[in-house]
Amino acid sequence: MAHPAKSLGHGGLARCDGIYDLDAMDMNAIVSTQRAFFETGATRPVAFRLQQLKAFQQALREHEERLCAAIREDFGKSTFDTVTTELAILHHDLKESIAKVAKWSARKRVPTPLANFPARSFVIPEPLGVALVMGAWNYPYQLSFAPAIAALTAGCTVVLKPSELPARTSQAIASLVRGTFAPEVFTVVEGGVAETTALLAERFDKIFFTGSVPVGRVVYQAAARHLTPVTLELGGKSPALVAADCNLAMTARRLVWAKYLNAGQTCIAPDYVLVEDSIREAFLEAVKGEIVRQKFRLENDNYVQIVNERNFRRVRALIPPEKVFFGGGCDEARRLIEPTVLAGVGWEDAVMQEEIFGPVLPVIPFTDLDSAIAQVKARPRPLSCYVFTTNAEIRERVLNEISFGGGCVNDAILHVSNPHLPFGGVGESGIGAYHGEEGFRAFTHFKAILDKPTWFEPFLKYAPHTPQRLKWIRRLME
Ligand code: NAD
Repeated sequence: MAHPAKSLGHGGLARCDGIYDLDAMDMNAIVSTQRAFFETGATRPVAFRLQQLKAFQQALREHEERLCAAIREDFGKSTFDTVTTELAILHHDLKESIAKVAKWSARKRVPTPLANFPARSFVIPEPLGVALVMGAWNYPYQLSFAPAIAALTAGCTVVLKPSELPARTSQAIASLVRGTFAPEVFTVVEGGVAETTALLAERFDKIFFTGSVPVGRVVYQAAARHLTPVTLELGGKSPALVAADCNLAMTARRLVWAKYLNAGQTCIAPDYVLVEDSIREAFLEAVKGEIVRQKFRLENDNYVQIVNERNFRRVRALIPPEKVFFGGGCDEARRLIEPTVLAGVGWEDAVMQEEIFGPVLPVIPFTDLDSAIAQVKARPRPLSCYVFTTNAEIRERVLNEISFGGGCVNDAILHVSNPHLPFGGVGESGIGAYHGEEGFRAFTHFKAILDKPTWFEPFLKYAPHTPQRLKWIRRLME
């Protein structure tokens, strides 16, 4: 059974009208208490982990209505989208973790080379310890809870810092966790930069951060002070490359859905499109047709608001009116930006200088695949890359020549939904990966053991170090 929430640490975490009352002592007390609990070894048995995961499963069902209401109030996300892009994924993670935790955490025998004879070798998966999970706001439940589920499966304790931007959502996360888990196992610290900074001063055994590249650097530097291992799930500009031979109708359909889902506030949304010049006009028309057909509008429950005013103004400023092919309208009072397509955009435009993270799709034509690939490669390695083509050579060139975190052929975004695919970035788009077993691995140390009996000891390594012995050692080792 999960413990009922106790008062530890929460006395100093009162939240009052957006003001978080925290000090370094609170953070230190939270981490110290979790570490003391972790050191008792209580989190190691599979039975304990299963209790936590099952309690999580039940809480997620019980809190579903509250979770959906909070996110709808914060930025207009519908229950359909909250379930399909967040809660269903978490339920799947929990189901898989419950089914696999015993297998993943069992010792594994590995072969022993003859040079080590007699011996047996094995690997002990060992939880790293006290984990700090920091979530981003754009899929707040998935990005906070999925790493937490992986950490609990691995036998870690968890301090979760959800994003402060969707305030009601952050409260709903805190309320679920505080009502379900003992704080020495899993607790939530709400807050913004000040609270995160105070948390990062503490020594954790693992930091799992989802967010922007600049804050990723801050987290990495803080982790370096204690040599804490990190997983950094960051962002960047993810390209979609559309070749002339693609299935145009299907390409437009899938790209439009992937781009305007969550109003473009998706880390792996196609940020921009490189389209072969010969189909540029047809592609733009097909995209326009799909936007109309898919009816992305708040009233249709398939569109969301921009999360806050700062981001609304930032995204709006990236739309040059003279380059709008479709959309471009904004409703400041409701923080809404129409699904927008930009044509005639160049690499020098502001919209190509930063991750858009909004419903604006620049379309840039290319005439030669070499230069399109070179242009992508000249920029930081993206989190995702998508190629739309029916030509195997083009597909293989994109997959082999461009370095990126993950992606799809003839689709976008959906690689995230396959738990058998490790999810993460490369270069500036991130360090490490998670989902499925890869998530368990992110919170686990694999302790390597060579176990030798004492009934026999080969003499070759001992003096005298004769040429004859060296010859034998070479034979055994090389
Ligand atoms: P963000 O980096 O602004 O915030 C993430 C977290 O960092 C929040 O919890 C926030 O409170 C904290 N934070 C913000 N400023 C800080 C500072 N100066 N010092 C310490 N902590 C600080 O990111 P965001 O706006 O929440 O999310 C958008 C970004 O996240 C985009 O770049 C997007 O691509 C990326 N992202 C990546 C993934 C992924 O899985 N790779 C998923 C979602 C979002």
